[in-house]
Amino acid sequence: MKSPKVILRLAHKILMRVKFNQKIALVWIPGHSSITWNERADSLAKSVTESDIYIEWIAVEDICSYYSNFSIQKPIENFRNSKYLEILGDLPSILPFAPWLKNRREVIIITRILTQMIITPALLKRFGLHNNPFCSVCNQENTIEHILLICKKYLPHRRIFCLKLNLNLQIFSSYKVFLHTICSSKLHLQVFLQMLKLFDIY
Ligand SMILES: [Zn+2]
Repeated sequence: MKSPKVILRLAHKILMRVKFNQKIALVWIPGHSSITWNERADSLAKSVTESDIYIEWIAVEDICSYYSNFSIQKPIENFRNSKYLEILGDLPSILPFAPWLKNRREVIIITRILTQMIITPALLKRFGLHNNPFCSVCNQENTIEHILLICKKYLPHRRIFCLKLNLNLQIFSSYKVFLHTICSSKLHLQVFLQMLKLFDIY
């Protein structure tokens, strides 16, 4: 349930087959040995770099770590001038926070929060893995924006968060303002990560 979208899509496919009483077997096979479907998977993987049809299948944190491997500015500039900026958000802007984060788990959480790819009931519903995308308290769609900014259930946690960082509750007025604030310093990010545990996300 905490996996990137590609895993959720596979889970959805498996779930569909189960509904039709179809049997599924997961088997290991050797790579590069002329097995038709393995060759097909390989060629699809290669075409990812040439086409944007498959871009949604790549976990955003993997795209970020791909960019963090380059010390030169060019790939980041290329990204910002490409169509992917609109689809995925400004991923290179996440890179400067990486040194503030303790481990890969934190990088994944922050990247998914920034790109709204974090797993919530609303996102799971899109993949057919959750029956009810609505919040039981507010009866609104349970998206990450709802959970962090709007949900009544977490109002006391929001107050504590603001007190700890000496902030105004206004930062919860829009997702953009909120993200801008939590990414403004190492301390803000760390307190935010602690807070996420209270929001049943982390
Ligand atoms: Zn709610």
